[in-house]
Amino acid sequence: MTKEITGKTKLLGVIGHPVEHSLSPVMHNAAIAQLGLDYIYLPFPIEPQNLEVAIAGFAAVGVVGFNVTIPHKQAIIPLLSEITPLAQTIKAVNTVSRQNNQWVGTNTDIEGFIAPLQTTYKQDWSQKVAVILGNGGAARAVVAGCTQLGFAQIHVVGRNMQRLQEFRNSWSNSSLADKFQVHQWEELPKLIPQANLLVNTTPIGMYPKVDESPLSVEEIANLPTGAIAYDLIYIPQPTQFLQQAQKQGAIAIDGLEMLVQQGVAALKIWLQPETLPVEVMRQALQNHLGLEQ
Ligand code: NAP
Repeated sequence: MTKEITGKTKLLGVIGHPVEHSLSPVMHNAAIAQLGLDYIYLPFPIEPQNLEVAIAGFAAVGVVGFNVTIPHKQAIIPLLSEITPLAQTIKAVNTVSRQNNQWVGTNTDIEGFIAPLQTTYKQDWSQKVAVILGNGGAARAVVAGCTQLGFAQIHVVGRNMQRLQEFRNSWSNSSLADKFQVHQWEELPKLIPQANLLVNTTPIGMYPKVDESPLSVEEIANLPTGAIAYDLIYIPQPTQFLQQAQKQGAIAIDGLEMLVQQGVAALKIWLQPETLPVEVMRQALQNHLGLEQ
């Protein structure tokens, strides 16, 4: 069914460059239809040099809120009046809302990441160890999420010592200092047997390179039974990494739920709906990606 655009239709969207691949329009327009609201959510391809003028234009035409994707997640920060402590912690904004004629930025990836760990797999994390593969943008949200859940130790594993040190130093003013360590890939055999939660934040294994895995079969064989393996990748489902981990008796979580829940968290900020159409958003993504339900 095509949405009827009226004189009152309000605007939401996502900015990025490129933005054609974004799944957010599918998910948010399904939610808007379910809620019966007169809104539309559009993709806006914005080149980096046009970011400032685009944001000023959004204010002028009354955009209610928007998501932010690569390459604008950091660049947008100086253009906002306020950013939440969560977005400050990870130095990246993925959701912006218009409040009292000002742009306010936050980051809902943290809420998205921790959602399955707070609901389906809820437990006391205070004696648990998290091992995170990769030290890019998504790893920042994962570190913040693991801190929020109260993990006893957080180990981040990367392939480039300089980038790892920069990653480590960027958290030096936080309360993490004593439970957060960075390691090179070679240290994995020592870390994997301790992991209660093992998270892949690298793109290794993502479609179309579906036969790849960040870990060898021998490495993953040392994952304790009952550990949780969490892959931020959502296609294919499951990834090689998750298949290997499941063979070891691990619990597997794929990246689709994080994607859904970061969107749900954004929708809550913009529209404050009485009920959140979580299932509709999940199904819209699954249909679009051709995934089994
Ligand atoms: P990013 O900033 O580019 O970071 C990627 C990280 O992976 C970097 O630390 C990079 O290492 C590492 N890496 C890449 N190739 C590697 C290899 N061959 N061996 C070892 N390390 C490698 O990307 P991102 O934004 O964090 O996204 C990472 C993944 O998470 C993507 O697959 C993305 O789709 C997924 N993601 C999913 C969600 C969701 O909602 N489910 C949300 C965000 C991201 P270097 O620093 O050494 O280059």
